[in-house]
Amino acid sequence: MLNKKTVEDLKNIQGKRVLVRCDFNVPLKNGEITDETRIVAALPTICKLIEGGAKVILCSHLGKVKNGPNEGESLAPVAKRLSEKLGKEVVFVSDYNVTGEAATKAVAEMKDGDVVLLQNTRFRGKEETKNGEKFSKELADLADDYVCDAFGSSHRAHASVAGVTKFITEKGGTNAVGYLMQKEIDFLGNAVENPVRPFVAILGGAKVADKLNVINNLLEKCDTLIIGGGMAYTFLKAQGKGIGQSLVDDTKIDYCKEMMEKAEKLGKKLLLPVDTTVAKSFPDPIDAPIEVSVVSSDAIPDDMQGLDIGPKTAELYAEAVKTAKTVVWNGPMGVFENPILAKGTIAVAKALAETEATTIIGGGDSAAAVNQLGFADKMSHISTGGGASLEFLEGKELPGVAAADDK
Ligand code: AMP
Repeated sequence: MLNKKTVEDLKNIQGKRVLVRCDFNVPLKNGEITDETRIVAALPTICKLIEGGAKVILCSHLGKVKNGPNEGESLAPVAKRLSEKLGKEVVFVSDYNVTGEAATKAVAEMKDGDVVLLQNTRFRGKEETKNGEKFSKELADLADDYVCDAFGSSHRAHASVAGVTKFITEKGGTNAVGYLMQKEIDFLGNAVENPVRPFVAILGGAKVADKLNVINNLLEKCDTLIIGGGMAYTFLKAQGKGIGQSLVDDTKIDYCKEMMEKAEKLGKKLLLPVDTTVAKSFPDPIDAPIEVSVVSSDAIPDDMQGLDIGPKTAELYAEAVKTAKTVVWNGPMGVFENPILAKGTIAVAKALAETEATTIIGGGDSAAAVNQLGFADKMSHISTGGGASLEFLEGKELPGVAAADDK
């Protein structure tokens, strides 16, 4: 259970300035927000503070901001959409300095229950991403208390996520987590630390190297670990199978062997594809029509590459999900961007939609797949943070959580 102060623990907030770090890193196309999930997810905390009569100061990053501040990565569209969602004005401080004079003035003019949104925190470059003290203090200077509700950014020790809390503490304020953080941590934390068993973890995606610690940690916690996607072929090669031209990470063969031995020692089931959908080459463009065939996983032709799990594997994985009580899923089973190679990912998503188990989708591509298929409301929880949920599944403490005050 989360032992950190939450937004409910903030006392006497009437008239207080509360800085809330949100995750408003929404996808934009031609200046329009194409998915408002993250804005909607931030509403409960914001509404709670408005109702309590706080002066609500919001901040967030948006995009990577590789070439310095620019209008394309301004949070202006978020201010507009948020204002529509809240049914009240959100004052947007468009100043690229984020915390400068304009922000100070806007905050000074706030009345109780007002909402101000600061500009993209990454416009401050390394001051934000390297957890700079000056920027951290400037953020804290605008507020009395601080709430981190940016789960999708909580694995990063940035100024607006971590650094700011030190200065809030120095001035006697409280650092809490918001409702979204609480919900994410409750679902992911319970699944990993206190799962109703059988607990099945499904991992897919491109590379083994990206998920080394996740595989290791989940193997200890789950009853069955299912591997699909590009990373499965390094495991198959480690078993001595020929994998043709499939994606492989030769430096991780020993690691895969070690994980298979560990599973055996711990008495855990580790499921790998028994059949594979193969093609002569990777589709180009990725969604181009492609000729495929299905082969047994120990008979992948030398000139072919595996691009999805096969139908027998999909059935095997669906069966494991059917009898589970808790399922955590991160990463597609194949090159799901191509409809011909999306069958394995769809089969797993469908199995999760149909099971009675608590189902948790760890963000990123698997969340996108579940949303596209219209299964979102059939899942117990879809994480808003891909990278953060992966680090959580690795068993790491997230900086955004660590920085909050203990209860
Ligand atoms: P990740 O970012 O690690 O979750 O990986 C997601 C990517 O893995 C998607 O873009 C998929 O197209 C890709 N992927 C999944 N299976 C395979 C495969 N068998 N071969 C190559 N790429 C794959």
